[in-house]
Parts: sequence; C-alpha cells; structure tokens
Amino acid sequence: MRRSPFHVFADLHTHTRHSHGTGSVLDNVRAAQRQGLEVVAITDHGPASLFGVGVAGPAAFDAIRQEVIEARKAYPGVKVLWGAEANVVSEDGELDIPPGLQERLDIVLAGLHPLVRWRSWAKGASLLAANAAGAWTGRVRHARERNTRAIVNAVLYNRVHVVTHPGYRLPIDTRALAKACAATGCALEINARHDHTTVEYIKIAKAEGARFALGSDAHSPERVGDLEKAVSLALEAGLASRDIVNAR
Ligand SMILES: [Zn+2]
Ligand SMILES: [Zn+2]
Repeated sequence: MRRSPFHVFADLHTHTRHSHGTGSVLDNVRAAQRQGLEVVAITDHGPASLFGVGVAGPAAFDAIRQEVIEARKAYPGVKVLWGAEANVVSEDGELDIPPGLQERLDIVLAGLHPLVRWRSWAKGASLLAANAAGAWTGRVRHARERNTRAIVNAVLYNRVHVVTHPGYRLPIDTRALAKACAATGCALEINARHDHTTVEYIKIAKAEGARFALGSDAHSPERVGDLEKAVSLALEAGLASRDIVNAR
C-alpha cells in the first residue's frame, strides 16, 4: 500500500449488541485501544430499523450512555463518543432519533436504509417499491429523486454530523447531497464495509466542497478500526487530511 499522507485517529461508526453488532460497548472500546485509535464512536441503529436490527427503543440510548461512561473509566486513553446511526423515516427528512436526543448525543450519524419503519407506512412502502422497480427495470430516476429528497432534508433539518454510506442500496444524487453537506458542515462517509463507494462519488462530492468521514461500520469488535478500504479509496480520490474529519 502507498504511504498515506494522513493519519486516521478515529473510527466514527461502530455497532454493538444494542443493535445488531456482536460485541458490547466495552469490547468495541477495548478493540479501539488495541488498534491505537484515539477516538471511537458507538453508533447503534435507531429504533425504526426492522427485524431486530435497531435498538429496542429511544430509551436504549440511555443504557448505551451508561456503558459509554463505564468504558471511558476502563480505557481513559480512548475518547468514546456516545452516538447513534439514525434512520431517515420520511421524505421530509425526519429521523427516528428525536431532536432532544440528537442534541444530547456526542455524534449523530444518519443514513438511508431500505428496511425501516417509515412515519407513514404507505409512503415507506411506495418508496421501497420505487427503489425495487428501479433496480429491476433500470428506471431508477424516480426512486433516486425521492431518496435524495429524504436524505437532503435529513441533513438540513437535523443535527447530523455524518451521512452514512451514501448511495448504498438506495441510489441518490451525490452532488445534491454533497451541496447540502457542504452548507451545513455535515461529512459524507467513506464506508469501509460496503462495496458501493466509487472514487468518482468522492471526487464529485469534494468538488462541491463536502468533507468526508472514514467509518468501519464494524458489527463486531474485530472490525473496529478496520478502515483500510476507506483509506485506499480516499487516497485514490486524492483526498488530503483537510478533507477528512477523522484524519490529520
Ligand atoms: Zn447503515
Ligand atoms: Zn452502520
């Protein structure tokens, strides 16, 4: 691998057993320490994720907070961020993390996920259908416009620090999202777990003035800090440390 012109000091996207990860908060923080990370964020899925993927309810975040406090005591060398990966649950950009909780969390990630309980069942079902039909017929434009509206509104009207895996399974207009992110200071994730991210997407977003966050999206402690794929993409796209919120 090429010598990296930047050093990644934080993993801003990790899951625990509170959503569908396999480890505890403490396990992820221990792993972060072993990886030499200075910062790790605990970002379990919001409660609207279906099939047991999300946390049991908003109150789960207070239980997570207690574990974060314990982990900070056990590993004082690691800064542990109490966070969430919120779901976008309407085209107006509403999240499944209420505004009061968004304000309290150290970091709020937000992402579009296909299997989510939408505010309006009919609209959620119709968006899912539009995406499925687009994938089958190649006519993705309609679904793409609706997905983009939802995620752009989420960025504009919430306290969101990072948009997770933009374009993963649900196509979006990268340029429009990057513009919104550049305006609000929200970062776009380069996700190390999924394979959808392209160098082109990063270049388009950078041209709009957006910054990036590298995330492992670890669902097990072993994957915490595994950012290699995201780093290679960032290097290939010519990013420097000033373009990346968790690098210097
Ligand atoms: Zn996600
Ligand atoms: Zn995730």
